[in-house]
Amino acid sequence: MATSNIPEATAKRLPIYYRYLNMLATAGTDHISSTELAEVVKIDPATIRRDLSYFGALGKRGYGYNVLDLLEFFKKTLSQDKLTNVALIGVGHLGQALLNYNFHQSNNTRISVAFDIDQALTGKIQSGVPVYPLEDMKEQLRLQQIKIAILTVPIEAAQAVTDDLVEAGIEGILNFTPLRISVPKRVRVQNVDLTNELQTLIYFLQHFNE
Ligand code: ATP
Repeated sequence: MATSNIPEATAKRLPIYYRYLNMLATAGTDHISSTELAEVVKIDPATIRRDLSYFGALGKRGYGYNVLDLLEFFKKTLSQDKLTNVALIGVGHLGQALLNYNFHQSNNTRISVAFDIDQALTGKIQSGVPVYPLEDMKEQLRLQQIKIAILTVPIEAAQAVTDDLVEAGIEGILNFTPLRISVPKRVRVQNVDLTNELQTLIYFLQHFNE
């Protein structure tokens, strides 16, 4: 099966497998059964076997999985074998936190450029990342061939900025705004609504923890 046809739930677990396989490899583990992997990543073994089966026979019955082989495989599948540059739009509280963080757990994904409308923020380097004025966004994204953007602008600006991102050829948006932005089919959006997540957690604690 082509990797683009795997279920979304499986795709979302791939970075978890990748992270744990990295840790196992660092600890010198050379092979692992799906049951052992299940204990480490806290996902049930049947799900792991099914997830991995989408990618063909990666494990051997009775032997399990070769950690380094699996790690190499995920590295390629998740494009962690090459550097992916990402743009950040909106250097407010959340945007600055993301710039500071800059995905340091991954050597291969980083925010390389940021944009804002606030002149107090632009024309400077923040956490090692240049911040450009919004007017330069389309040109810079095209010039730097950036295909992924993180959106941390206020909700009122979210759709207009998204339209500009689409025009600039962006293919994926990590949307931290609460707005469900509209994009053409070719553009993929991942929504990260932190307030929502927290409210859901509070709801679960109140209703299911008696
Ligand atoms: P946050 O919501 O991230 O905590 P904040 O409260 O500091 O940020 P917001 O008003 O949400 O500020 O704005 C986030 C950032 O987005 C600010 O730095 C602001 O200057 C910037 N911004 C506002 N409108 C736009 C826009 N149209 N394009 C790019 N950046 C914008």
